[in-house]
Amino acid sequence: MKRMQFGKRTCVFLDRDGVINKKLPEGQYITRPEQIELLPGVVEAIRTLNQAGCIALVVTNQRAIGLGLLSEMGLAEIHEHLRLELEARGARLDAIYYCPHDKNSCHCRKPEIGMIKRAFQDFPDASANNSILIGDSISDIEAGRRAGIPTIFIHGDPANQKPGAEKAIGLADAKAHSLLSAVNQFIFSNP
Ligand SMILES: [Mg+2]
Ligand SMILES: [Zn+2]
Repeated sequence: MKRMQFGKRTCVFLDRDGVINKKLPEGQYITRPEQIELLPGVVEAIRTLNQAGCIALVVTNQRAIGLGLLSEMGLAEIHEHLRLELEARGARLDAIYYCPHDKNSCHCRKPEIGMIKRAFQDFPDASANNSILIGDSISDIEAGRRAGIPTIFIHGDPANQKPGAEKAIGLADAKAHSLLSAVNQFIFSNP
Protein backbone atom coordinates (compact mmCIF):
# COMPACT_ATOMS: atom_id res chain seq x y z
CA MET A 1 0.00 0.00 0.00
CA LYS A 2 1.42 3.30 -1.06
CA ARG A 3 1.02 6.12 1.40
CA MET A 4 0.85 9.52 -0.14
CA GLN A 5 -0.50 13.00 0.21
CA PHE A 6 -2.23 14.50 -2.76
CA GLY A 7 -2.34 18.13 -1.78
CA LYS A 8 -5.09 20.42 -2.83
CA ARG A 9 -7.01 19.21 -5.86
CA THR A 10 -9.22 21.27 -8.12
CA CYS A 11 -11.61 18.52 -8.98
CA VAL A 12 -12.82 15.68 -6.78
CA PHE A 13 -14.75 12.84 -8.38
CA LEU A 14 -17.00 11.05 -5.92
CA ASP A 15 -18.72 7.74 -6.33
CA ARG A 16 -22.26 7.87 -4.91
CA ASP A 17 -23.39 4.61 -3.29
CA GLY A 18 -21.03 3.64 -0.49
CA VAL A 19 -19.21 6.98 -0.52
CA ILE A 20 -21.92 9.64 -0.16
CA ASN A 21 -24.92 7.55 0.83
CA LYS A 22 -25.26 4.16 2.43
CA LYS A 23 -25.27 1.44 -0.19
CA LEU A 24 -27.89 -1.25 -0.21
CA PRO A 25 -26.84 -4.92 -0.06
CA GLU A 26 -25.12 -6.18 -3.23
CA GLY A 27 -27.63 -6.66 -6.03
CA GLN A 28 -30.18 -4.19 -4.62
CA TYR A 29 -30.69 -0.74 -6.11
CA ILE A 30 -31.79 2.58 -4.74
CA THR A 31 -34.98 3.39 -6.62
CA ARG A 32 -36.68 5.91 -4.32
CA PRO A 33 -35.47 9.20 -2.81
CA GLU A 34 -36.22 8.09 0.75
CA GLN A 35 -33.65 5.29 0.36
CA ILE A 36 -30.87 7.88 0.26
CA GLU A 37 -29.21 7.84 3.67
CA LEU A 38 -26.17 10.11 3.92
CA LEU A 39 -23.13 8.48 5.49
CA PRO A 40 -21.58 10.09 8.59
CA GLY A 41 -19.32 13.06 7.87
CA VAL A 42 -20.34 13.41 4.23
CA VAL A 43 -21.90 16.84 4.63
CA GLU A 44 -18.79 18.15 6.36
CA ALA A 45 -16.52 16.57 3.75
CA ILE A 46 -18.35 18.09 0.79
CA ARG A 47 -18.65 21.45 2.54
CA THR A 48 -14.89 21.39 3.11
CA LEU A 49 -14.35 20.78 -0.61
CA ASN A 50 -16.74 23.61 -1.49
CA GLN A 51 -15.06 26.06 0.86
CA ALA A 52 -11.64 25.24 -0.58
CA GLY A 53 -12.90 26.01 -4.08
CA CYS A 54 -12.78 22.43 -5.29
CA ILE A 55 -15.20 21.16 -7.92
CA ALA A 56 -17.19 18.34 -6.29
CA LEU A 57 -18.58 15.92 -8.88
CA VAL A 58 -20.47 12.67 -8.59
CA VAL A 59 -19.83 9.87 -11.08
CA THR A 60 -22.23 7.00 -10.51
CA ASN A 61 -23.15 3.78 -12.31
CA GLN A 62 -26.93 3.41 -12.23
CA ARG A 63 -27.50 0.13 -13.97
CA ALA A 64 -30.96 -0.09 -12.37
CA ILE A 65 -32.14 2.05 -15.29
CA GLY A 66 -30.71 -0.36 -17.88
CA LEU A 67 -32.34 -3.21 -16.01
CA GLY A 68 -35.72 -1.49 -16.12
CA LEU A 69 -35.95 -1.07 -12.33
CA LEU A 70 -35.73 2.73 -12.37
CA SER A 71 -36.61 5.45 -14.89
CA GLU A 72 -34.39 8.42 -15.78
CA MET A 73 -37.03 10.63 -14.20
CA GLY A 74 -36.96 8.51 -11.06
CA LEU A 75 -33.19 8.92 -10.87
CA ALA A 76 -33.53 12.68 -11.39
CA GLU A 77 -35.88 12.79 -8.39
CA ILE A 78 -33.41 10.82 -6.28
CA HIS A 79 -30.60 13.20 -7.24
CA GLU A 80 -32.73 16.28 -6.61
CA HIS A 81 -33.44 14.90 -3.15
CA LEU A 82 -29.74 14.24 -2.57
CA ARG A 83 -28.80 17.77 -3.64
CA LEU A 84 -31.46 19.33 -1.42
CA GLU A 85 -30.44 17.23 1.59
CA LEU A 86 -26.86 18.41 1.15
CA GLU A 87 -27.70 22.03 0.35
CA ALA A 88 -29.91 22.30 3.41
CA ARG A 89 -26.73 21.65 5.38
CA GLY A 90 -24.49 23.94 3.34
CA ALA A 91 -22.86 21.35 1.06
CA ARG A 92 -23.01 21.58 -2.74
CA LEU A 93 -22.44 19.10 -5.55
CA ASP A 94 -21.29 20.88 -8.70
CA ALA A 95 -22.59 18.17 -11.02
CA ILE A 96 -23.85 14.61 -10.96
CA TYR A 97 -22.93 12.31 -13.84
CA TYR A 98 -24.53 8.92 -14.15
CA CYS A 99 -24.36 5.96 -16.46
CA PRO A 100 -27.83 4.45 -17.00
CA HIS A 101 -26.59 1.49 -19.03
CA ASP A 102 -26.23 -2.18 -18.30
CA LYS A 103 -22.80 -3.82 -18.23
CA ASN A 104 -20.63 -3.90 -21.36
CA SER A 105 -22.88 -1.71 -23.45
CA CYS A 106 -21.40 1.79 -23.32
CA HIS A 107 -18.33 3.94 -22.77
CA CYS A 108 -19.53 5.61 -19.60
CA ARG A 109 -20.12 2.81 -17.09
CA LYS A 110 -17.11 2.71 -14.75
CA PRO A 111 -14.44 1.33 -15.19
CA GLU A 112 -14.92 3.11 -18.52
CA ILE A 113 -14.09 6.80 -18.32
CA GLY A 114 -16.84 8.46 -20.37
CA MET A 115 -18.25 10.32 -17.38
CA ILE A 116 -14.83 11.64 -16.39
CA LYS A 117 -14.12 12.81 -19.94
CA ARG A 118 -17.44 14.59 -20.04
CA ALA A 119 -16.70 16.33 -16.76
CA PHE A 120 -13.39 17.57 -18.14
CA GLN A 121 -15.31 19.10 -21.07
CA ASP A 122 -17.88 20.70 -18.78
CA PHE A 123 -15.29 22.02 -16.31
CA PRO A 124 -12.32 23.26 -18.34
CA ASP A 125 -10.28 24.01 -15.20
CA ALA A 126 -10.34 20.32 -14.30
CA SER A 127 -7.92 17.79 -15.74
CA ALA A 128 -6.27 14.51 -14.80
CA ASN A 129 -3.42 16.58 -13.35
CA ASN A 130 -5.54 18.24 -10.70
CA SER A 131 -8.22 15.65 -10.01
CA ILE A 132 -8.71 12.81 -7.58
CA LEU A 133 -11.32 10.04 -7.51
CA ILE A 134 -12.82 8.55 -4.37
CA GLY A 135 -14.77 5.30 -4.60
CA ASP A 136 -15.66 2.07 -2.86
CA SER A 137 -15.54 -0.35 -5.82
CA ILE A 138 -12.92 -1.89 -8.02
CA SER A 139 -14.68 -0.24 -10.98
CA ASP A 140 -14.12 3.19 -9.41
CA ILE A 141 -10.44 2.55 -8.83
CA GLU A 142 -9.95 1.15 -12.33
CA ALA A 143 -11.74 4.13 -13.89
CA GLY A 144 -9.46 6.52 -12.03
CA ARG A 145 -6.39 4.62 -13.12
CA ARG A 146 -7.51 4.54 -16.77
CA ALA A 147 -8.12 8.29 -16.63
CA GLY A 148 -4.73 8.90 -15.01
CA ILE A 149 -6.28 10.21 -11.80
CA PRO A 150 -5.09 9.20 -8.33
CA THR A 151 -7.62 7.20 -6.37
CA ILE A 152 -8.69 6.70 -2.77
CA PHE A 153 -10.55 3.53 -1.86
CA ILE A 154 -13.23 3.85 0.82
CA HIS A 155 -13.62 0.65 2.77
CA GLY A 156 -16.76 0.80 4.82
CA ASP A 157 -18.23 -2.09 6.71
CA PRO A 158 -15.91 -5.12 6.22
CA ALA A 159 -18.92 -7.45 6.54
CA ASN A 160 -20.54 -5.74 3.57
CA GLN A 161 -17.43 -5.54 1.37
CA LYS A 162 -17.99 -5.84 -2.35
CA PRO A 163 -16.33 -8.49 -4.49
CA GLY A 164 -13.05 -7.07 -5.76
CA ALA A 165 -12.39 -5.02 -2.65
CA GLU A 166 -9.01 -6.65 -2.03
CA LYS A 167 -7.92 -5.92 -5.58
CA ALA A 168 -9.19 -2.36 -5.27
CA ILE A 169 -7.19 -1.81 -2.08
CA GLY A 170 -4.09 -3.02 -3.88
CA LEU A 171 -4.62 -0.76 -6.88
CA ALA A 172 -5.74 2.40 -5.09
CA ASP A 173 -3.22 5.08 -4.21
CA ALA A 174 -4.65 5.36 -0.72
CA LYS A 175 -7.47 4.06 1.42
CA ALA A 176 -9.70 5.58 4.06
CA HIS A 177 -12.67 4.59 6.19
CA SER A 178 -14.92 7.40 5.04
CA LEU A 179 -15.15 10.32 2.66
CA LEU A 180 -14.47 12.75 5.50
CA SER A 181 -11.38 10.83 6.52
CA ALA A 182 -10.17 10.77 2.90
CA VAL A 183 -10.70 14.50 2.47
CA ASN A 184 -9.01 15.40 5.75
CA GLN A 185 -6.13 12.96 5.47
CA PHE A 186 -5.17 13.21 1.85
CA ILE A 187 -6.55 16.37 0.33
CA PHE A 188 -6.27 18.90 3.12
CA SER A 189 -3.59 17.40 5.29
CA ASN A 190 -1.06 19.81 6.70
CA PRO A 191 2.11 17.78 7.03
MG1 LIG B 1 -20.04 2.65 -4.78
ZN1 LIG C 1 -23.06 4.10 -19.78
